[in-house]
Order: sequence, then structure tokens, then C-alpha cells
Amino acid sequence: MTVRVRFAPSPTGMFHVGGARSALQNWIYAKQQGGVFVLRIEDTDAARNKPEWTEGILSALDWIGISRGSYEGPYFQSANAGEHRAAAARLHESGRAYYCDCTREDVQARTGSQYQGYDGYHRDRGLGPGPGHALRFRTPDEGATVVVDLIRGEPTFENKLIEDFVIARGDGSPVFLLANVVDDMTMGITHVIRAEEHLPNTPKQQLLWEALGVKPPIWAHVPVVVNEKRQKLSKRRDKVALEAYRDEGYLAGAMRNYLMLLGWAPSGDREIVPWSVIEDEFRLDEVNLSSAFFDEKKLRAFNGEYIRALPVAEFVDACQPWLTGTGTIAPPPWQPEEFDADAFAAVAPLAQTRIAVLSEIVPNVDFLFLASPLIDEAAWTKTMKDGSAELLDDAVAAFEALDSWDAESLKSTLEAVGAERGLKLGKTQAPVRVAVTGRTVGLPLFESLEVLGRERTLTRMRAARLRLV
Ligand code: GLU
Repeated sequence: MTVRVRFAPSPTGMFHVGGARSALQNWIYAKQQGGVFVLRIEDTDAARNKPEWTEGILSALDWIGISRGSYEGPYFQSANAGEHRAAAARLHESGRAYYCDCTREDVQARTGSQYQGYDGYHRDRGLGPGPGHALRFRTPDEGATVVVDLIRGEPTFENKLIEDFVIARGDGSPVFLLANVVDDMTMGITHVIRAEEHLPNTPKQQLLWEALGVKPPIWAHVPVVVNEKRQKLSKRRDKVALEAYRDEGYLAGAMRNYLMLLGWAPSGDREIVPWSVIEDEFRLDEVNLSSAFFDEKKLRAFNGEYIRALPVAEFVDACQPWLTGTGTIAPPPWQPEEFDADAFAAVAPLAQTRIAVLSEIVPNVDFLFLASPLIDEAAWTKTMKDGSAELLDDAVAAFEALDSWDAESLKSTLEAVGAERGLKLGKTQAPVRVAVTGRTVGLPLFESLEVLGRERTLTRMRAARLRLV
């Protein structure tokens, strides 16, 4: 039997990191089993779906390595509406479903006002189809539904506790629960790997498989991803969109490695490992049962390591979207013609060791491309003290006298200017850094001055000096 798994996102918002993790788990499981990964877009909720969300899912999947053309699909649930209706009709014909026109108020009036479920009133009343008549599934009175779950063993649900749930609404349209089962069935899905939040639906869905006469799939319900307060990640409260991480400059390799470590770890106390190791070693049944903390700080640290591991040329390439601004990435503060690729290449290795996400490249190098630096006023006030004006005067004079404009000479020259005042290098270079880059932190100063060049450096230092009059 060929293993067939599916990833079945609903295009109702930005693509969630938890979804990306489920997609990767399905992807790896299919690969390990020599199986097939199917992508199905569950777009039946017309009011909440937007085509751009679907496009977002496809491109985000592509970004983390589930590339278009390498899986089956995408299929669209809305295209299978006929199958969903036919299945509802079959369940009615076989007596496994019946029509009901009760409102919630009707049920509550019969059973007491607190009752949220359904009391089975229409089970044997033979109501026919008609406007406002919902179709309910007749759940068995006895026995239990045992779900085979690769992560959870065999969760068991007593059938008498499962109410006769609705499978098609009063307007005849099948509900999501049924559409999802019918699609899995038609697509020959053998393993359903999805988030734990769907587990309460699973006994109902398994009953539908059985009633439709098809052997149910093997299930795997993966624990949810939570924030630092152990709350399920929510798109209203937390940063959950995979695209947001991509646009901030997380590397796809770091992101997918980190996502796979949520609730699982490779052998030997390692965390950062080649993707091939994860593909070999990942075991669905080893995924931890407790919810997984999505720790952005840890992800940042991970990403920094991935950035440092890149060959410099690749790092330079990877920075391009932030240096030029493309698609969803905002343009940098300089004009395109101000950008100097050679100057960037010269400082790139210095930046590579210092940034954790690629977007941080911009504030680190903007001083090189802007006609005058963006001065951070708080940094200016904090740094420019009594004596800074004189110090800048002396530094300008000493730099003007330099024969060779290189980092070594700049450093020893400024060191000497500071020493005359009894200042350590750190204190001496702070006003120079603010004058030239506008900030208190950044790339190593003397290499920066070397690349910026004599004229521009001296002009900026003189301009800062004038501001201090
Ligand atoms: N469309 C559902 C969701 O996005 C997936 C349901 C499933 O995986 O069975 O939550």
C-alpha cells in the first residue's frame, strides 16, 4: 500500500508557523515511507477565503522546501462539492443520516435550557428533505470508536457520548467535517497527520469513514504550538505568519530546522543539523505529547548561526532583497543609485558575524550609501559630551595628516588622540562613530571608515563638529 498523506490548509489568513510545521511533518513522513504528499486547499468557507491567502500558502511552502511541482495538487475542496453532496445523500439513503428541523431553542425547550447538544428527537420521525432541514448523522448507541493514532496510541471515544451531529446544513450544503472526510477518501489518503485541535472531530470523522464503507486512515495528532505563556499561538496576539519571518530575514533552512525541533530532537544532543539528518531521523511517534513552545529568541539564535555558516558570496546574495526592496520587503532608506555593491562586499563579512536576521543588514550599512548618516538623536545626546568637540577637532586633524587611509592607521591614530586626554579607545571612538554612522553600535569602526573613504568620513566629522558649537 502506498502511503498517501495530505496537508489541507484553509486559506483564511496568513500562513501559520504551526501549519508549516504540520506540512513539514507530512512531507518528511511521505518521503520516509516512499509515499505521496498531497496538497489540498480547503476553500469551502467562501466568506473567509481569499485567493491571495492561497497564493501565500503556495509560496510559503515553496520557501521552506515543499516546492511547487514536487507534490500532488493543489486540489481545491470547492471543486469536489458534488462528491460531498453525493456522500451526504448516500448516508441518508442507507439510513445512517436523517433530516431534522429543530432549532437550538426547540432542543433547549425539550431538554432544559443549559443543554448544548442534540437530543435525537428526529431520529425516527421520518422527516424528509426540505428548506431548513439539516441532515444529521445517526451515531451508534453502543460501543466505542477507537482511533489509531501514531502519536497518542488508541484514544477511545464512547459512541453514546457522541451526539447526532450535522453533516449537511438546512440549505443542503455539506459541512466541513464531511467534506474533509470525503476528500480524504477520494484522494486515497492513508495517514492524516494534523494538529491536535482536530482530535475532538476525529471520532465523528472515523464514524463517517466507516458509514461510507471505507477503512479509516491512520491518524496522528500533533501537539499544538504555544507562546511563552503556554497559550496556543494566535494570529491576533502572536507573530505567527511564516511570511513575516521570511520578510524579516529568517533563512528557510533555519526556519524549517527550528520548526522540526518543536516537540522533537535529533540524536546526540544536537539541534542544528543538516536537513538530511532530520529527514532520516525524524520519527512521528517520537513527537512529544506536550505542547511545543515557539521561542522566537531561540529561533533568532538559530538563524544567526545559519547566517554565519553561509559562504560570504551567498550571504551577499541573501541580503539583496533588503538592500534593494522587493515584493513584500520595504525599500531601504537610500536611493538605488546610491548603493555601491563593492562597498557592500567589503563590509559584508563584518556584518555577517553580527546580525541574527537579514533585515538587520540595513541599519548596519546605511551609513555607507546615504549622502549623510541618519542620526539617532538619543544616541547623539548620550554620546556627545563636554570635550567631544575638541576631540573631533583633534581627530579630524590627525586623520587629515594620514598618508594611508586604512583601518590599522585610523585605529592607532585615534588611539593616540584619546591617550592625550587619558581616554581609552572605546570612549574616544564613540563620538566618531555617532558622527559618521549616526549610531552608537554597528560594524567595527575603523574598517567602516576605511570603506567609507577619507572624504566622506572627514566631511561627516566636520559636520558633527559644527553641530556642537
Ligand atoms: N483545513 C483544516 C485546517 O486548516 C485542516 C483539517 C485537517 O487537516 O484535517 O485546520
